[in-house]
Amino acid sequence: MTDEFRPVEMLAERLRARIASEGPLPVSAFMMEALFDPMAGFYATKDPLGAHNDFITAPEISQMFGELIGLWAVECWGQMGSPDPVQLIELGPGTGRMMSDVARVLRAAPGLVEAAEATLVEASPALKMVQGRTLAGAPVPVCWAPRLEAIRPGPTLLLANEFLDCLPIRQAVKTDGVWRERCVAMHPDEAGRFAFVLGTALAQADLDLIDPSLRDLPDGTLVELRPADAPLIAALAERLHAHPGYALFIDYGSDTAEPGDTLQAIARHEKVDPLEAPGAADLTAWVNFEAVAQEGLKAGLQVFGVMGQGAFLKGLGLDVRAGLLAQGQDEAGRARITRQAARLCDPDEMGELFKVIAFASPDLPPPPGLGRYAPASEAA
Ligand code: SAH
Repeated sequence: MTDEFRPVEMLAERLRARIASEGPLPVSAFMMEALFDPMAGFYATKDPLGAHNDFITAPEISQMFGELIGLWAVECWGQMGSPDPVQLIELGPGTGRMMSDVARVLRAAPGLVEAAEATLVEASPALKMVQGRTLAGAPVPVCWAPRLEAIRPGPTLLLANEFLDCLPIRQAVKTDGVWRERCVAMHPDEAGRFAFVLGTALAQADLDLIDPSLRDLPDGTLVELRPADAPLIAALAERLHAHPGYALFIDYGSDTAEPGDTLQAIARHEKVDPLEAPGAADLTAWVNFEAVAQEGLKAGLQVFGVMGQGAFLKGLGLDVRAGLLAQGQDEAGRARITRQAARLCDPDEMGELFKVIAFASPDLPPPPGLGRYAPASEAA
């Protein structure tokens, strides 16, 4: 038993040793290790996506999702003046399924397949392998980049589904009028288990990251900081200022800043305790779309959305697409397609919790299906 290679147990052991030497770890550090530890991280080591694995995402539910996103990109390319070459960038492509569905529909615009070069930004070596297999027969050349900043400048169509939600978050809790970092330490009573504790007070620069509407909430309030959003949107803005481009992000979250703990862990389609077995479960947190939109405006980009995934997909023609796919199917096939469309669009499934935001270079027309951004907090 003791000689067995058990990477997840070894990751827990490394985290315990790190806590013993460095003290409590901010939630962001714990999340980073749990997702990307090279030996046992959740994404780093395996293919967690799909019906039989840990969770299922929109592109894995149905090819219609990627096809509609592809048609969105086709339209945007035309609005950019059909540049050749054009970089088709995807952040966090998972199994590569969405890119393969997108690439197939690029043929709708003459010249686009010849102009497009797909670049995948993926942190996980295991998922890169899966993406390579999925995209082996793709009609466009495919390459990988470690970060958005590493991709050479040029006209851009950028897509990202469920990418923002796995960027590490920090949490802070107000006690006695002071915001303190929420950290992970060892459980005081149960040997070997992890537990949340409160660490040091936030520095002024971190306090500035808390949405102003939340700063004066009472003791006991928990807020989340998403330190990775701003650098990502800044890198995107640099690209879209240098050359024309559009970017589309789809994710789950809220369109206003709200207090509360949204860190969640999913393993084998079930919610589990986020501290229970780092590496064995996916850790994500709600995206704050208002903050992401504000970063875009601050960086001088045009911002569109925020819209529910259901309304967005219907606006792009989901029902027509579903009808076309259903042609020639037997009754079971038609029922399956109807069920898939409902999962993507119904308000009590992914239709409203999942939201869409887009960015564009300053002089481009609005992308298809989305209106100009207006803060939800102002619309109320
Ligand atoms: N877009 C896919 C996968 C979503 S899961 C789908 O919808 O099915 C999140 C993906 O983002 C995984 O591929 C994960 O490995 C990748 N990822 C997460 N953080 C990343 C980072 N900082 N840099 C690059 N890839 C990242």
